[in-house]
Amino acid sequence: IRTIGILGGGQLGRMLSAAASRLGLRCHIYEPGDAPAGDVAWRVTQAPYEDEAALRAFAASVDVITYEFENVPTSALDLLESLAPIRPNRRALAVSQDRLTEKTFLNGIGLTTAPFADVPDEAALDKATAQIGRPAILKTRRMGYDGKGQIRISADDTQAGWTGSPSLLEGFVDFTAEISVIVARSGDGQVAAFDPGLNVHQGGILRTTTVPCGLPKAVTTDAVLIAARIANALDYVGVMGVELFVTPQGLIVNEIAPRVHNSGHWTQAGCAVDQFEQHIRAVADLPLGDGQRHADVIMENLIGTDMDRVPAILSQPRTQIHLYGKGEAREGRKMGHLNRIT
Ligand code: ATP
Ligand code: MG
Ligand code: MG
Repeated sequence: IRTIGILGGGQLGRMLSAAASRLGLRCHIYEPGDAPAGDVAWRVTQAPYEDEAALRAFAASVDVITYEFENVPTSALDLLESLAPIRPNRRALAVSQDRLTEKTFLNGIGLTTAPFADVPDEAALDKATAQIGRPAILKTRRMGYDGKGQIRISADDTQAGWTGSPSLLEGFVDFTAEISVIVARSGDGQVAAFDPGLNVHQGGILRTTTVPCGLPKAVTTDAVLIAARIANALDYVGVMGVELFVTPQGLIVNEIAPRVHNSGHWTQAGCAVDQFEQHIRAVADLPLGDGQRHADVIMENLIGTDMDRVPAILSQPRTQIHLYGKGEAREGRKMGHLNRIT
C-alpha cells in the first residue's frame, strides 16, 4: 500500500496525512468543503459526495480508503466500495452513524448503554418521556457532534422542545467521570489499546483529556476490554474511539467513533506510536504499535478565542502545540490543541 484515500479533510485528516507521510506513504483527501488538511496531503479533491466522476477518479488513485468523518452519504460509499477497500468497514460506519443503531448494537453484544427510546417525530416525545423519565437528553439520531442537536430535559421541564429531526431520548446518566479508550485493530485481528483518558466536557465540547485517568485498575481494564469487544464484534480495522461513563454500577458506553478521536490527541506526546500513525499502520497492513505510554499528559483543546493564548502557550515548558491552520477562530470551533507533559 502506497496511497491512502481519506474521506474528510479536517484536522483529523490533516494529522493522519502527516503520520502517513512519516511512514513514506501519501494521502489523497476527498473533501466537499474547506480542507485544512490540504496543505499536508499529497492530493486533495474538493468535490461533493454526489460527484460520481470525482469519486471514481479518487478511488482509482488510492490503494485503500479510510475516513475521518462518519457521515459520508451511503450512495458515495456504495460506489467507492466497488472500487477500493474501505477500512474500517461499512458496518462500523453504519452502526456509528445512527445513535439508535449504535445503542442497539452495543446492547446486542452485552454492553450497557443509557436507557433510550426512539423518537421518530415530535408527537412521539411524550410517550418516550413517560418511558425514560426525566432528566433526559434528546439527541438527533444522525449528524450530531460536539453536543450539537441535543436538548437537555431537566427533572421538572414540561415543555422540552424538539430537535427538528428523528431523535433518540436518552436517560440522563449520573456519572462520576467520563473516560475514553482509543483502540486499534489490525486486519489479522490484533488489538492494541492506549491507556484510557479522563475527559472533561464543557457545553458538550471536549475540553481536556488527562492520562493517566486516575481510576482504579479494575475500571481501566474493564474499559479496555469493552473497547476490544466492540472492535472484534465489528471485525474492525483501524483506530476507534469509545466514550464511556463511569458510574458506581459500572461502565456505560456513551458512543463510539469509527476513526481517530479528539480524546486520543494526547498520544502524540505520550506514546512512541500515536493514534494517527496507529490508524495508518492498521489500514495500510503494517504491524500495530504497542500503545505503551511513556509520559503523563494533559491535552487541552484550543477552541475559538483560546487562540489568543497561543503566544503564551508557545513559551510554556514541556508543552507541544498543534494548530490546524483553519483561519477564522469562530466560537466553538476547534482550532488546535496542546499536549502538556505533567
Ligand atoms: P462528540 O463530539 O463526542 O461526538 P456528541 O455530540 O456525539 O459529541 P455526546 O457524546 O452524545 O455528543 O454527548 C456530549 C456530552 O454530553 C457527553 O460527553 C456527556 O458529557 C454529556 N452526555 C451525553 N449523553 C449523556 C447522558 N445520557 N447522560 C449524561 N450526560 C450525557
Ligand atoms: Mg458523537
Ligand atoms: Mg461524544
